[in-house]
Amino acid sequence: MSRYPPGAYTPGVGDPVPRGRRNPRRGYDAEGRETVPATIANSMSNGAYAIRATCDCGHEAEVSIDRFPPNSFVPDAGLRMRCEKCGRKGPTTAPAWSRVSDRP
Ligand SMILES: [Zn+2]
Repeated sequence: MSRYPPGAYTPGVGDPVPRGRRNPRRGYDAEGRETVPATIANSMSNGAYAIRATCDCGHEAEVSIDRFPPNSFVPDAGLRMRCEKCGRKGPTTAPAWSRVSDRP
């Protein structure tokens, strides 16, 4: 039984995970339980047109969102990518809501 009112925050699932053992591609709730990330399909229905990959070197690229399985998680999209500038694997990935060229 939850100690929180429904809708108070996104609840995590499973047992709390110690900070040192957390997956950097996942979010955690206040008690340290892993929360379910957004899926590709969910992001598309909310208006994302691409996946933006950001490497530790600062290089940023946008990848067509329909390359990814609809039920896969957005934070996992970078697992099989490699930075085209420095060659590092596994950029951070997030939904892209608007084109870089549209920004002021
Ligand atoms: Zn890079």
